[in-house]
Parts: sequence; C-alpha cells; structure tokens
Amino acid sequence: MSLPQNNFQDKHRVVIVGGGVIGLCVAYYALKAGKKVILLERNSEEGDNCSTENAGMVVPSHFVPLAAPGMIALGLRWMLSSESPFAIRLRPSRKLMRWLYLFWRSANKKHVIHNREFLRDLNLKSRELFVELAEDDSYELVKRGLLMLCKGSNSLEEESRLASDANDLGLEVEVCDSRRLAEIDPDIEMNVEGGIWFKQDCHLDPSIFLNQLRKKILGMGGEIYHQVCADGFVIENGQAKALRCSDLGGSESLNDNIEADQFVIAGGAWSPSLARDLGLDLPILAGKGYSMTVPEPIQLPRVCSILNEARVAVTPMGDCLRFAGTMELGDNDLAINARRVKGILKSIPKYFPQFKVEHFNGIKRWSGLRPCSPDGLPYIGPAGPGADGVFIATGHAMMGLSLGPITGHIMANILCNDYNELPLDALFPGRFS
Ligand SMILES: Cc1cc2nc3c(=O)[nH]c(=O)nc-3n(C[C@H](O)[C@H](O)[C@H](O)COP(=O)(O)OP(=O)(O)OC[C@H]3O[C@@H](n4cnc5c(N)ncnc54)[C@H](O)[C@@H]3O)c2cc1C
Repeated sequence: MSLPQNNFQDKHRVVIVGGGVIGLCVAYYALKAGKKVILLERNSEEGDNCSTENAGMVVPSHFVPLAAPGMIALGLRWMLSSESPFAIRLRPSRKLMRWLYLFWRSANKKHVIHNREFLRDLNLKSRELFVELAEDDSYELVKRGLLMLCKGSNSLEEESRLASDANDLGLEVEVCDSRRLAEIDPDIEMNVEGGIWFKQDCHLDPSIFLNQLRKKILGMGGEIYHQVCADGFVIENGQAKALRCSDLGGSESLNDNIEADQFVIAGGAWSPSLARDLGLDLPILAGKGYSMTVPEPIQLPRVCSILNEARVAVTPMGDCLRFAGTMELGDNDLAINARRVKGILKSIPKYFPQFKVEHFNGIKRWSGLRPCSPDGLPYIGPAGPGADGVFIATGHAMMGLSLGPITGHIMANILCNDYNELPLDALFPGRFS
C-alpha cells in the first residue's frame, strides 16, 4: 500500500499513530472538527489490539483510579497465587521499578478523592458521546447498567461503601440482595450474597463499535493505512515536521516520511518508545488481560457484571457471552498464561452455578495489553517542549473503551486550540518527566 502523498500546502493534516479505540476516536472527532486525518496502524486489517475483544463496558462506576489505597497490599497477597487475577512479572528493570515507585506514590486516599469527580465526569461525558454515536443504529449500546456481584458479606460491605461514595457523587446506584438481583436479571442463576447495581453503566460489542467507527472515518474522508509502522519523528527547531514510517505490507515495501502539521501518538502499550524518541518520559506498563467468548452459553444474562472477588468481567454480546479478566503487569508480550486463564474459569461456577469449566473447552483464549500509567489516569495532551505539534493520547488502562469518545473529543479540541470544559492538568503527558 502506498503512503499518502505529501502536500506542503495542507495546513490541517493530522497523522494519528494507532488504530485501537483511542486512535479511531481521535480520528473521528478530528474529522468532525474539520481536520484532514491520516491514521497509521502497524497491524493488518484483520489484526487485533487491546481494543477488539475487551469486556465492552462503559463505566461511570469506575471513578476510583487503579492507584488507590489498599491496592499494593491486595496486589502482594494476590502475587502468592499463580491463578490470582493480578501479577507483576518482577525482574531487575529500571522501567518497572520506576513505575512501581510512581504507583506507590499515587496509591493514597488524597489521590482518589482529588480525581474521582474528574473520572466520573470523563466517563459520563464519554457515555453521552456513546449514546450520540449509537443514534444511527450503527451499533447497539445496551443501557441496563452493571452488576458488581459479591460472593461474600465482607466484599458486599466494602462495595456498599463504594456505592455510598458513588451516590454522593450523584451516580445512580442500588445496593441489592440476592432476591433483588434475580429480579434485575432473571435470565441467569446467581449464587452470591448480593451486589451493587450501577445503573448508568452500559455495554457494547467492541469489535462492532470499532468497525463502525472505521466506516464512519472513511465515509468522512479520513484515510486509514494498515501495516504501516511509525518509527520516529523528524524534528526541526523544536517543531515536528514528519513521521518516519516503514511499510510492512510486503510487496511494495515502501519506506517514507509523512509530513503533517500535527501528530497524535495513540499507540497503546507501545506508545513509550515513540515518546522516548521525542525525549518524553511516558511511564507505561502493559497490563495483560484475557477474554474468552462463549458462542452458545448455557445461560445468557441481560446485564453485564463483574464477579467482584475474582475480578472477572462478564458481558453479553448478542447471543454470545464474554468473560474477561486478569491484570499481569509486565512487558509487551501477548503469550497466554494457562494458569491465569484457569483462575478466571474456576471462578465462574462459584457465581454462576449453571456454568462449568468444561464449557470453555475449545474456546479461543484472547489476550490484550492495557496501557497502564502509574497514577491510573490517562495521558492526554501535548508531548511537551522540543516536540511542538506532537500530542499524546494513551495510558487508559482498564477504561480505554469507556473513555475512547471523550478522549477523541478532548484531543480534537486540543488540535484546534479550542476550549476544553474539563480541567486537563491531571492528564498532562509530561507529568512524570
Ligand atoms: C481483558 C480486558 C478487558 C477490558 N475490558 C474493558 C472494558 O470493559 N471497558 C473499558 O473501557 N476498557 C476495557 N479494557 C481496556 C481497553 O481495552 C484498553 O484500555 C484500550 O483498548 C486501549 O486502547 P488503545 O487504543 O490505547 O490501545 P490498543 O487497542 O492496543 O491500540 C493501539 C494500536 O496502536 C498500534 N501501534 C502501536 N505502535 C505503533 C506504531 N509505532 N506504528 C503503527 N501502529 C502502532 C498497535 O498495533 C495497536 O493496534 C480491557 C482490557 C483487557 C485486556
């Protein structure tokens, strides 16, 4: 595939690196704002990334960042079991040690209280944009909420406290006993103490959403090039002028520079190497997770849920049911860890007794790498001094799908020097530099 012809007259050209949910949302809203958009994706058209087979949840309920009190103690406890939902691949690595130090520095109550209204607003505004995007019926946004299911009374108590915080933040929540849960979702048998119903959460099938977004982008005149890898920037006098690219397509094997006025790095867990090329320290660890999608499940719930103690997400997608979980912090490696997958599968019958581990025999194991920042907040904004014209949109960890539209919207405003109604200092990409 040939890369686009350079056009020095074109003052509105934005090149976006990365065709995951973030890159696509930035492309869509930049086009809406009148930009000419070129999106580059290293993978082939059929290839996937973290955005394709995730749990598909839109989560105003997730107003607590990953870096929160208790997370370190919980993480250490979980590290004792090879089937637990969390692991860190510990090894002597400066990058890992620095990330862990920055995480430890942020995992406190002050950080949570300082950011929870902001995270709520980001997620609620993103939800509004999801509703808008679904108005043409291009994809289905299921607005039935999310059930946080608790096996034990201790965790129900803990989640009830979170529900009370959510209530104080103006979110619609209900603490439910098992009878009430059966009313809300009569289509699945649950063996739980109770749960929290976060009524504003939604779910969708991410692959359908991404395909439709791609169609919209092409329909609006955007250009998407697959199998093109961005290798680095050409900077002159502190201003980014071009992106060095290699065409991985094979036959035409084209290597070229693409010139533009603005560039957005939305490369997910692979973003730090491009940022490093600009002298920007962008601490990100890959948080590997898995999903398994059952085509004909024995029962199909109506509402998506999280099995709280097991940290497993369960999402109905059409006639299929997706189970997703695990956070293995480490390198950018997609290898499937059979023991962690077993941990997910073993937890399911404890909550949904009609399901058996054998139901997952022969079901594909999918893995994806969440781009995790150490303070649990994304990086959205300019790359910083010495790299004018380059912008960053990544680090969304467990909320990349949910925050996709609002990230695209914010970035489009930034690219156009327009007003952003949300205070964006907390998202500044250079905050750890
Ligand atoms: C098991 C699991 C369940 C999840 N469930 C949810 C959920 O329910 N709700 C939610 O909100 N989030 C969820 N997430 C998180 C969400 O999937 C991620 O936050 C999101 O997909 C990140 O999107 P992204 O666009 O930043 O990265 P990606 O989707 O990884 O896309 C980045 C793209 O950039 C490309 N790229 C990188 N470098 C280059 C380069 N140099 N040149 C060209 N291309 C490049 C890559 O090939 C890749 O395609 C889940 C994640 C996992 C693993």
